[in-house]
Amino acid sequence: MVSKLKNIDPYFRPILESLSELADKLNARVYLVGGVVRDLMLGERMFDLDIVVEADAIEFAHKFADIHKKQFKKHHAFGTATVFFDNHHIDFVTARSEIYSGFGALPRVLPASLRDDLLRRDFTINAMAISLNKSDYGKLVDYYCGEKDLKDGVIRVLHNNSFMDDPTRILRAIRFEQRFSFKLERHTLRLAKKAIGENAFSLVNPHRLREELILLLKEPHPRKYIKRLQELKILPLMDKNIRLNKNDFHIIARIEQAIEFYRASFKRHRQLEEWLIYFMAILYRLKSNDAAKFLDTFGFRKGEKIRILSLYDNMDKVKQLNKKVLPHVIYKMLNPLSFENIIFFYAYYREKKIRKHIEIFLDKLIGIHLKLKGEDLRRLGFKPPTLYGKLFERLLYAKIDKGFKTLEEEVSEAHIIFENCQSKH
Ligand code: ATP
Ligand code: MG
Repeated sequence: MVSKLKNIDPYFRPILESLSELADKLNARVYLVGGVVRDLMLGERMFDLDIVVEADAIEFAHKFADIHKKQFKKHHAFGTATVFFDNHHIDFVTARSEIYSGFGALPRVLPASLRDDLLRRDFTINAMAISLNKSDYGKLVDYYCGEKDLKDGVIRVLHNNSFMDDPTRILRAIRFEQRFSFKLERHTLRLAKKAIGENAFSLVNPHRLREELILLLKEPHPRKYIKRLQELKILPLMDKNIRLNKNDFHIIARIEQAIEFYRASFKRHRQLEEWLIYFMAILYRLKSNDAAKFLDTFGFRKGEKIRILSLYDNMDKVKQLNKKVLPHVIYKMLNPLSFENIIFFYAYYREKKIRKHIEIFLDKLIGIHLKLKGEDLRRLGFKPPTLYGKLFERLLYAKIDKGFKTLEEEVSEAHIIFENCQSKH
């Protein structure tokens, strides 16, 4: 037998051996399963491990955590537990079968054998296991020809009702298809189209759809994933007003470039939530109250919602950057916006001036602040303090436009502004 664990990352070797020992000690069958097996066979890097135990997984995980003195968390409702290592975690689940009552509801869960557990999974390539027991350590368990499909580059469901049982699997199918440049097997594709045609998504908890959609947009190069969503007519099922056109795909392509540019040029700025920018491209042509409804229905978080909706308020404002303007005008316009909004606009607008102004903002204007403080103004005898707010704002704009470097420059400008203010009063 060729062990599938022969080429495993050396970091994981002692962990798997320790699992193996405990399995034999407790006389339980224990397997590595799912995506991690697929990734191992593709030669991809491993991160988190999924373990199926043909016994009480919570008890097993608890003992394993004790041995390694690691944190342990159980989820009683699901019969699962997680053990946390420094940079990754291990999920344990009791082998189980799932009975779907239909209508998109969550399934009933019963303890079962590994075979049943693999049958509840989404695709053949995700339904393989590797034994960790000593007697057959490293042996592949592959009831559904996952290894062959992996070689052939095929995504295949395990049974005809799979997409109706859980329509989020359609999004997962697209994710794996595009990630590995695989193909949906013909019959599987037909089943997916049939489920889409029957509007299967309407039965699913929208929050689960959002989670899968975000995972899809978090993959590298989401454009091809969104294209596939479009081909399969999935987006209008989430909201009938979402109809991407050719221009939207140009914008999405430019978002990919804009993100690359940002990553390469502004390493010290905060990391973007890139998926959110793609979401903006999906939603920006909706009316703002329709977009708000969509975001509520799908349970987007407050911060995400604010960033997406602020697109609508700023679309026209940012257009004003298409002319010669002083740097402080750029600052005033862009500083209140999220980075995600700014990158969206950078991709959305093709006008050279707007793009140049955004570059200036990102490159030179972000983070500019005054050296002068309120106490300096007090010490210098500026009165009354109620004018300080206005003064600081004008001083900052002057600093931006004139490029002050020193405190002295700020002080002398403060005097000028202040005299101006007073003469107006
Ligand atoms: P990724 O590499 O993106 O994490 P994954 O295959 O590991 O992909 P997970 O969501 O981490 O996906 O799930 C782990 C495993 O659980 C899958 O490989 C699959 O066997 C099973 N699984 C996850 N979601 C579903 C689902 N909706 N229906 C059936 N099986 C699922
Ligand atoms: Mg995974």
